[in-house]
Amino acid sequence: MAYIFLFGSLILGLIIGSFLNCLVWRLYKNKSLWGRSYCPKCLKKIHWYDNIPVLSWLALKGSCRHCRQAISVQYPLVEFITGILFVLVFIRIYGHGLAYSSLDFYQLIMQGGLLGNLVRAWLIVAVMIMVFIYDARWLMISLPAIIWSGVLILIFDLALGYGFVSILLAVLIGAAFFGLQFLLTKGRGIGEGDIWLGGLMGLMFPDWRLLLTAILSSYIIGAITGLVMMFWAKKGLKTKVPLGVFLALGAIITLFFGSEVIRWYWGLLSA
Ligand SMILES: [Zn+2]
Repeated sequence: MAYIFLFGSLILGLIIGSFLNCLVWRLYKNKSLWGRSYCPKCLKKIHWYDNIPVLSWLALKGSCRHCRQAISVQYPLVEFITGILFVLVFIRIYGHGLAYSSLDFYQLIMQGGLLGNLVRAWLIVAVMIMVFIYDARWLMISLPAIIWSGVLILIFDLALGYGFVSILLAVLIGAAFFGLQFLLTKGRGIGEGDIWLGGLMGLMFPDWRLLLTAILSSYIIGAITGLVMMFWAKKGLKTKVPLGVFLALGAIITLFFGSEVIRWYWGLLSA
């Protein structure tokens, strides 16, 4: 029984990943979100059988059926990673019930709070993957994407019973953290989009300890990546940093391990 749900999570993740690839492109090009997918190079519509996540890319050996131009490996990679992360989120929330009998597991699935948490965590993963791709490709944050994601996550926060004050506090801390850096560096180190992203992180982590864990882990990942890049590519210090990429990674790590990190850290303090 549990395996059907794991498989379902994988399929859903693959489809959402495919949608995210398309979404970032349309957001960037300011195109309508409706209508069939088409090849960005020859503009020919893509048949459904050429639009199956990962498999179509492999079958077509990474090129368009019509114009034979290369399709970026970003497409299958994003689909694959989204699929895997959706499965991991499912395990994170329902993992303790995987050994239950079918009926017990079904009842566990239907528990409102857990189901809400599952969808909310899937949503956060999807939003962070979108932020990651957008910032990695264009060094930008898409404001409409941030606002719409924020509205959706806020609805889940309230429905799941997070206090309005702690949500507001987390949003303010997140936005102020980057806002202050924006003012101090006069907008050189940090973009305006990062302030909005900081606010969105607050909605994602309405507990300030989780929020700080997310921000701190992104800075650690960013610092390590920066050092590796410097040694590897011998790049100077002035390389523009796609902060959103690191924030997205920090957020996903915190989604999975945040509570453990906090428990460990508080344990250290009280030891
Ligand atoms: Zn084409």
